[in-house]
Amino acid sequence: MGSLDNSSSLRISQESLGSLLHESCQFGAAHRYGKASTETGMARLSLDDSDKQVRDWFMEQARSIGCQTYVDEMGNLFAVRPGKNKDAAPIMMGSHLDTQPTGGRYDGILGVISGLEVLRVLASNNVETEGPVGVVNWTNEEGARFPKMAVSSGVWAEAIPLQTAWDLREVLARDGNPKSIKEELDRIGYCGKRGASYQTNPFAAHFELHIEQGPILEDEGLKIGVVEGVQAFKWFNITVKGRDSHAGTTPLYARKDPVLCACKLVVAANKVAHEFNGLATTGIFTTDPGTVNTMAHTVTFTLDVRHVKDEVLAQMIEKCEAEFNRICKEDSEKGCEAEWELLVDSPAIQFHPDCIAAVEASAAEVCSQLPEASGGKKLYIPMISGAGHDSCYTSLRVPTSMIFTPTRSGISHNPVEYCSPEDCALGANVLLGAVLRYDQLRARRGELN
Ligand SMILES: [Zn+2]
Repeated sequence: MGSLDNSSSLRISQESLGSLLHESCQFGAAHRYGKASTETGMARLSLDDSDKQVRDWFMEQARSIGCQTYVDEMGNLFAVRPGKNKDAAPIMMGSHLDTQPTGGRYDGILGVISGLEVLRVLASNNVETEGPVGVVNWTNEEGARFPKMAVSSGVWAEAIPLQTAWDLREVLARDGNPKSIKEELDRIGYCGKRGASYQTNPFAAHFELHIEQGPILEDEGLKIGVVEGVQAFKWFNITVKGRDSHAGTTPLYARKDPVLCACKLVVAANKVAHEFNGLATTGIFTTDPGTVNTMAHTVTFTLDVRHVKDEVLAQMIEKCEAEFNRICKEDSEKGCEAEWELLVDSPAIQFHPDCIAAVEASAAEVCSQLPEASGGKKLYIPMISGAGHDSCYTSLRVPTSMIFTPTRSGISHNPVEYCSPEDCALGANVLLGAVLRYDQLRARRGELN
């Protein structure tokens, strides 16, 4: 058995990781944008036929490197490589193999495939870790087919009831007969026996490697984000009521125009976001009745507000409410009314200091060996994730953290999404080092005796 003192000599091979990643992308490849075999995006919707194929492939790969595999009631796939202590809960590396309908080859996929590659490197070097180490593929993280993101890590964390998740129906049914998650799990043979719960299927920790999906690392010439948490966000549906009337006969002063009012509200929310260094986004905007020569009587729009800190998010929303009231009363001619409906409330998440420390130490070591680091440039930074991930749910129950890699032009959820082979391997090496460090930490603390 190899000694863990040599762990820093263990390395993920860029070629091996790259070929495993692209092999997995043969299932569900779509939206070709270039001539090379890897120049396609992905359309691997959760629990569809291509998802079943990649699951079969994943389980076969995991077994071929000596892992024990099992499936839970949400179709989450687990592959675990035993350690010296075989009964201890495993350190898990996890992410998702499902994609958006016009997705790329890296979002989620990089994290799962890197987990497999870490296990393969451990196996081929005969490394015996102190406790078990494994990889998990979480079902329907994207929420693209079944409209609840990270639903299956949510069930595992007991934040979402199993039945609620099973009953979720697909958004777009080709035959007009939308299937539920449970029906599709049964159809593709991936409704497992193991309970989907952190209590009956506990982990020691959860590490997730993921592309950044934003431009910061690339813009700053950096290589690794040590993710310390996830920003808070709230989603609202805002309904603005005015009065429908004739576009030709109603003078401007006499109007209650909810479209004009709502536009001012969207602009006001953007100003608040600038003021507090947060984010505000309107993605859906509908007018009713919506004709050319009539003012609408009602507008509904969505408002997604985000900030790193819960208390600042609360201040941003208070400020938006005050501004919206003022605009409705004083800046909308005869006045409009705005009603708020809360759709989603996701508080800020702080990852675990021990996991963050393991990622940071690993990033420091791996990055220091890059040519770009000569002259002492630090190539990794602490970051807060702008998007939600399965790690948000796992962090409710077990020590968790994440690792980000650069994303070309910050583009994700798009077929041209790209992370270079070098950067993928770099991220996977940081993952490997973080897991081995955490494994050693458990042993030193006597958690495995
Ligand atoms: Zn993802």
